[in-house]
Amino acid sequence: MKVDCKHVWEHISEYIDNGVDAKLREEIERHLEHCEICSAILDSTRNILVLTADDRTFELPVGYSERMHKRLAKELASPEQDSDDK
Ligand SMILES: [Zn+2]
Repeated sequence: MKVDCKHVWEHISEYIDNGVDAKLREEIERHLEHCEICSAILDSTRNILVLTADDRTFELPVGYSERMHKRLAKELASPEQDSDDK
């Protein structure tokens, strides 16, 4: 089974939530080792999932990494979560 970038993007939020089975997880990790694009998307997606953890409405726009980065920038520019560590 060969995992391409699009396949990784489709499952990346499940992957972060440990929602993929062991075999797919292994395939994704193998792909991430040699794919800088997907590694960057994984980092970005993790950031987004943290930022929207309350309602978890984030949807990964498969095939539109440019749009994803705009959304990421927007999320980062308007932090809605109250920091309670101050
Ligand atoms: Zn990739």
